[in-house]
Amino acid sequence: MGRIDKREKRVDPANWASLKPFGIGQQKPNNYRELWRAFKENRDNAAYAWRILTQGTCDGCSLGTMGMHDWTMEEVHLCNIRLRLLRLNTMPAFDVGLLADVGQLKRKRSAELRDLGRLPYPMVRRKGEPGFTRVGWDEALDLIAERVRTSSPDRLGVYLTSRGTPNENYYAAQKAVRAMGTNSIDNAARVCHSPSTFGLKGSIGVAATTCSYSDWVGSDLVVFIGSNIANSQPVAMKYLYHAKKAGTKVVTVNSYREPGMGKYWVPSNVESAVFGTRITDRFFLVNVGGDIAFLNGTLKVMLADGWVDQDFIANHTVGLDEVRAALDVQSFQELEAQAGVPRSEMEAFARLLGQARTAVLVWSMGITQHEFGEDNVRAIINLGLTRGFVGRDKCGLMPIRGHSGVQGGAEMGAYATVLPGGLALDDENTGRFTALWGFRVGKGKGLTAPQMLDAAHAGNLDVLISSGGNFREVLPDPAYVDEAMARIPLRVHIDIVLSGQMLTDPADTVVLLPAATRYEMPGGVTETSTERRVILSPEIPGPRIGEARPEWEIFVELAKRVRPDLADLVHFDGTSDIRADIARSIPIYDGIQHLKSFGDQFQYGGRHLALDWKFPTPDGKAHWSVVKLPRIELPEGSFMVATRRGKQFNSMVHEQTDGLTGAERKAVLISRVDAERLGLASGDPVVLRSDHGEFRGRALLAPVTPGNLQVHWPEAEGLIDRRRRSPQAGIPDYNAIVILEKPASGEPAGV
Ligand code: SF4
Repeated sequence: MGRIDKREKRVDPANWASLKPFGIGQQKPNNYRELWRAFKENRDNAAYAWRILTQGTCDGCSLGTMGMHDWTMEEVHLCNIRLRLLRLNTMPAFDVGLLADVGQLKRKRSAELRDLGRLPYPMVRRKGEPGFTRVGWDEALDLIAERVRTSSPDRLGVYLTSRGTPNENYYAAQKAVRAMGTNSIDNAARVCHSPSTFGLKGSIGVAATTCSYSDWVGSDLVVFIGSNIANSQPVAMKYLYHAKKAGTKVVTVNSYREPGMGKYWVPSNVESAVFGTRITDRFFLVNVGGDIAFLNGTLKVMLADGWVDQDFIANHTVGLDEVRAALDVQSFQELEAQAGVPRSEMEAFARLLGQARTAVLVWSMGITQHEFGEDNVRAIINLGLTRGFVGRDKCGLMPIRGHSGVQGGAEMGAYATVLPGGLALDDENTGRFTALWGFRVGKGKGLTAPQMLDAAHAGNLDVLISSGGNFREVLPDPAYVDEAMARIPLRVHIDIVLSGQMLTDPADTVVLLPAATRYEMPGGVTETSTERRVILSPEIPGPRIGEARPEWEIFVELAKRVRPDLADLVHFDGTSDIRADIARSIPIYDGIQHLKSFGDQFQYGGRHLALDWKFPTPDGKAHWSVVKLPRIELPEGSFMVATRRGKQFNSMVHEQTDGLTGAERKAVLISRVDAERLGLASGDPVVLRSDHGEFRGRALLAPVTPGNLQVHWPEAEGLIDRRRRSPQAGIPDYNAIVILEKPASGEPAGV
């Protein structure tokens, strides 16, 4: 299985972060407090909580677990994200009388709404009513089906979140939605790694991470670009602890020297818990939006200095001549200006890559959530092709995923722009699925998540079904989102808890449907991790909530009511039946039909995709991409601002202060150089203004690249222009150009 070699050194002082035991006096989270808090929060349902931890697959990030173990290391696999999410699975239902008048609830923050408890029954609210009334499942489903039937399929939009959502829900939902006559089903992958899918598919013919986590350990070099796994995938830091011991060098390219990526105390490892681990050997602090310039500059150096594998390039790739020609007209002066670093930094990075026999390149939202997200990804892949860092041990291209359900979301076909298996919506593929499923599958692209909002705003959407998720806190421009939501005649929110978007007044009708968690689903369910491991999470015995139902069942029941003539064709006897259908529909998932019990899993495609440089492209070669520099016009004196995630899971904020950075939610991270120039100290109130809106916060001096700022999402969502989206994937750009002002004297700081 490629697990970590147990012959590694017992202690390795060279990698210690501090000689002070337990990092006393250092800015770091208190993981033991998290453990205690989780214990206290779940003590009313402690036995069930323990069974979830020990028998379930984690519903947090996309590393993937089998209970509290994994396939990369032998030690315990558990983190504070999982502990914080645990309560969502163990809490009791709230009294639905609370929803009789939502006036009070509208004033509550998302976290307070969540903490009320689980949604137990279907509820309906009609225009003019102060709140929701309980209804039966049949009444709720008949109401929705009637509206869908009397509308046209192009006026229906369906969105699924990715936290905890298993493959079975995605697959059944997309099949049901396509049976209802539309491809307008999208999921959270749209706003995270959709540009990665485009970039990888076009360049090397695969649309997922090519390697395994275990390839980090013992690789010469692991590079993180626009990625902060210390925050988002905490147990991955334990993998890096082992990688450092095996001699792996770690490089981080980012606009902020993320403290957690610098030093990390792995709480469940004695050596690291006491002395910490120095993770990143070399930071490259680039501008927000300067990645292409930095990566292209690095590539230019590698090509000029011959730090490339000529044989690999000649035998397994095409298109380098065009790339060379394009780079020839990108001067270092231009590259330095956009990257925000001197040529010597590009040379240093080129040297590290050029001297590495093996390397894994990892990237996240700092790369994808740009207007030029696809090109950012292609620039990374180009570097991967310099020395064949793909398809062999200790090498790989890894768009690391944030949520446990997101890898499978698009692969199952819950995606407006492709069919299951990531197949294009063309004649051949729609014909195949039409034949397979027995009903006509249309080939017109559906609405992506941002396009659903646009359609709603323009009055062109009659029904929105949102399974989990909260557009208000996930998509840019909350005022626009509110307006759009308020114009949709029928909104259906399927969820386990309350969210703010449910409380927007109905244009006509709002229906709430209670969902079951992954642990409550009879037959068990599967998730696909970043390393393409399809893992069964069994049903966990324990209390059940009111009339909550699995989402797959809800979508299927709805489709049967909308298209009674297709009822037999969309029917499933249970989750194992869905898995059998997945295996028939998506050849790479063959094997999923055999997963039944705890511990059952397989890694589709094996440890490596494109193994031995056999690229599944039409010509069998990897393709270089010409990547032009984006046009970024930064007016004199303005800043690039990136939105960041703190102690939160997606839009679910867990703490007001991030233990890794010490930043409060309203912090504006600013470099010392800029702060001194502007006469600012940490704690001073500041106002950021973009063309789109403003954000009031407090300066926090931090090691960010001068000329750049960082602020938390969703607090600063008002700064973002919702119209800026990447060309192919349609991902919103979550960055902005702003001016920074001090509030006028006497003006309230607003924070
Ligand atoms: S690192 Fe991710 S998969 Fe592992 S326990 Fe934490 S949230 Fe779950």
